[in-house]
Amino acid sequence: MKLNKFLLKLSSEIMNNSSKIIKNLQICNKCIMDTSDEEISFDETGQCSHCISFYNSLKKNWTPGTKEVLKELDDIVVSMKEKQKNQEYDAIIGLSGGVDSSYLAYWARKEANLRLLAVHVDAGWNSDLAVRNIEEIVKKLDIQLFTEVVDWEAIKDVQTAFFKAGVANQDTPQDHAFFSVLYSFAEKNNIKYVINGNNYTSESVLPVAWGHDAMDSVHMKDICRQHGGKKWKKFPFVSTFKYHVFIPRIRKMQIISPLNYIDYKKMDAIKVLEEKLNWQYYGGKHYESRFTKFFQSYWLPEKFGYDKRKAHLSSLILSEEITRDEALDEMKKNSYDKSTIDQDINYICKKLDVKKEDFICWMNEPNKKFSDYKNNVFIKKVIYSLIIEFSNLKSRVNIFSKVKYILARIKYLSLKILSKSKN
Ligand SMILES: [Zn+2]
Repeated sequence: MKLNKFLLKLSSEIMNNSSKIIKNLQICNKCIMDTSDEEISFDETGQCSHCISFYNSLKKNWTPGTKEVLKELDDIVVSMKEKQKNQEYDAIIGLSGGVDSSYLAYWARKEANLRLLAVHVDAGWNSDLAVRNIEEIVKKLDIQLFTEVVDWEAIKDVQTAFFKAGVANQDTPQDHAFFSVLYSFAEKNNIKYVINGNNYTSESVLPVAWGHDAMDSVHMKDICRQHGGKKWKKFPFVSTFKYHVFIPRIRKMQIISPLNYIDYKKMDAIKVLEEKLNWQYYGGKHYESRFTKFFQSYWLPEKFGYDKRKAHLSSLILSEEITRDEALDEMKKNSYDKSTIDQDINYICKKLDVKKEDFICWMNEPNKKFSDYKNNVFIKKVIYSLIIEFSNLKSRVNIFSKVKYILARIKYLSLKILSKSKN
């Protein structure tokens, strides 16, 4: 027991090397999540709430690569092809050049033979490697690609407003723009299926307290009104109603995550991509965007004490891709390169047209929570309660009409029998 406590303390110290904020963290003894996630809890054995939830809930329903699950995926592919047979494409995919979306494109073309429309959203922060990867993928897999360049002045205005707002999730503007453009392309091209690279293998652990829904346009607009300039109105916002009601319920667009059905292993996927598509790794999850790399490796850990590598590596531990020791070794490295961070800050500031002194000032200002700004959490709750009410009502109406139909049939047959007996 004493040794266990010592190891936990040692792990905590290792984890704190790169962070100036978090001290005396309690760390899970199964994964590497710790109390830098304010909402985490531990059971008496020292296992965290992420692990408990993974084993008690997700793991029981997630059996990738089994015969039944692959058959299920096969049925989905068949139905996609059937429903889209009169259209030019079977499905749409957002291509970032990262591991997950790149491997998904490979699977969709080579394994499922889907006719894909790929959309890449250029929000101004692509790394050269990401651009090169995308070019190789579409060329080698024969995929039609559309690249949409977001109005740079608009995204710059929104991103600067987010820095000033002092909230954790600085990736909201990029993510929001990606989905907004992707869905409008799907609508324009009559595509009912969006395939995405979401996967439990590398994303099962995702602390809610470390971010906020990137599709919350109410939140984004409030931040822009308070801290933005004049250009943010040109940003491609998608409203809460459109995202949660119109697209899935009225347009009946379906989002499929095939990587959760197949036996997806990140390291194997990288090997396949390198060998078959001349694809190159860029060094970290979502580091295909220079902004995301900066935000995840510097803004989040330095300002908030949130190191996303912990969540990513913990997911890989739970999906048995790496061991806890390997994850702890990885965490001994600094989240960012101290010798180049000054250049990176200069690059970000220059690109966003902000003074370095201002940026340093924003880094040191008190942290804000998403709830310090208007948001759509309440509206979303109302929408989903109404959806549940509506489907209940629909099923009640169905029962009533069935009962009405049966009564009418009984009446008709009785009259028929009566008239026959009179004759
Ligand atoms: Zn854990």
